[in-house]
Parts: sequence; C-alpha cells; structure tokens
Amino acid sequence: MTIKEALASARDQLALPFIERPRLEAEILLQELLKKERSWLHAHDETLLSDEESQNYQSLLKRRLQGEPIEYILERASFYSRDFYVASGVLIPRPETEILIDWASSLIASHPICRVAEVGIGSGIISSTLALLHPHLTFEASDISPRALEVARENLKRMGAESRITLHLGSLLEPLEGEFDLLLSNPPYIAQNTPLPKPLNFEPSEALFGGERGSELLEELIKEAQKRSIPYMIAEMGYDQRGAIERFMERIPHQELRFYQDLAGLDRGFIVRFDSSLDSLRP
Ligand code: GLN
Repeated sequence: MTIKEALASARDQLALPFIERPRLEAEILLQELLKKERSWLHAHDETLLSDEESQNYQSLLKRRLQGEPIEYILERASFYSRDFYVASGVLIPRPETEILIDWASSLIASHPICRVAEVGIGSGIISSTLALLHPHLTFEASDISPRALEVARENLKRMGAESRITLHLGSLLEPLEGEFDLLLSNPPYIAQNTPLPKPLNFEPSEALFGGERGSELLEELIKEAQKRSIPYMIAEMGYDQRGAIERFMERIPHQELRFYQDLAGLDRGFIVRFDSSLDSLRP
C-alpha cells in the first residue's frame, strides 16, 4: 500500500463523530510512525509502506478509533507553545489552563513572589512553564500519584527546570514544608457521577473528580492556604463553581477574591489575596 492509499483509508476509518479532523489525524499518526515531516509525506505519497509499517499504522489507528486521545498515542501535548511529555495516568493539558499561566505570570511580575507551591502538579506543565517565564522562582510541588510524578520529572528534565522544582508524593500541602508566597493548583474539580464524554474515560479519574460537589478540594486548598499564611492563591475551577467558592470564602478571612474567565467567557478560575500584612505596615 502506498502512503497516499494508507492516508485515504485511515481518513475514512477515522471519520467518526468524536474526531474533528480525520485527515489531519491520519497524517499526524503516520508522521509519528515514519518519523517524517508532513511535507515529506506529501512529496513521497507514492512510496510503498512495508507490511510492518502498515500493521503498526493500523494499530495506532485502532487505538485512536477506540477513543484514546491522540496526545496519549503521540506521548506529547502542546502547552504554552512548548511540547510536553504526556502518558496515561496524567491529565492532558487543556487550553484553558494557559489562562491560569497568564494570570499567575502577571501576579508574579508585579508582586514579591519567590517561593511557589503547586498542588497536584500532574505532568508538570504549570510549574515548568512558570519556571521558564520567571527565572527567579523556586517551586515545591505535590501529587498523590507516583505515575504523575514520574511524568512531571521527565518534563522538568526536558525543560531544564529540575533544580528549581522539587517534587513530593502526597496529598495537598501536607508534604510541602516551609513558607510560600503563592499557591497554584488545577485540582480535580468535576463533581462525582458527572457523565464524562468518551475521551475523558482514558484520563485518570483521580485527576478529574473533586468529590461529591466537585469543589471540595478547592475549598480544602483555600483553607490550607489561609491557615499557612500563603498570601496569594490561584486555582482553576469548573465553570459553574463561582457561587460555591464565593459562599465558601465568606467564612475565610481574605482581602480580595477575583474570578477569571476562559476563552468561552465562562468562569474558570480565581485569584485570592489573603494577606494584608504589607498594607498594615507602618514605618
Ligand atoms: N478542565 C478539565 C475538563 O473539563 C477538568 C480538569 C480538572 O478537573 N482539573 O476536562
């Protein structure tokens, strides 16, 4: 079978409702297999695939047809213009999390923030990206999943951020010692029993479900940040959790609470300023 024929057949197989661009994915998977550029495929589309190549291509297509996200098949995903390693066992980076980076970056650039804690580091995209954007920061990060920490370690290595981000196995802020200027998190925040679209079934449920209501871990983190006198916190949340967070914050002493929106205009995260210690300083 030629490359041209293989791509045409793959495109037809991939023409399913959950695959938006079957032809593009057919090409991406073949590129991955042959380790060639897309332009090479087009220029050599009369080239014959060996039996082994055809078989391997079919097995990649089969995984995709079963609903496995293409990022797991390729073992990479793009986030904030960088390619990160991803593998099953960690959440695939979402475009909305880039907005968390923008807010965090702006806060860091204009406030005295040096030591950062990240809870639920997953593949490491948030801390690594901020480490590269702000060379003065150091991070301590936790995750309850040993697999996630392995993936994060690989990404820290790839991004050259190993010496600045320390990884800890454990829950929430428990394993993170010392003082912090900022707490970051994209914790699991989907309510238990929410039916998920098929591709999400491939992602780790421990990275998605945050409890019966979904906002439990966010609330736990807010409480911890306040208790440990971390002056700032930024977290991603579900589009319908603003009310829950606002109500919860009524019981927590803080200075400011601000919500930010995703590209669809939905509430997607919040920033809290707990600390008033600088405001009350007198010479
Ligand atoms: N934004 C993810 C989704 O809707 C959920 C991520 C999370 O729970 N932190 O698929």
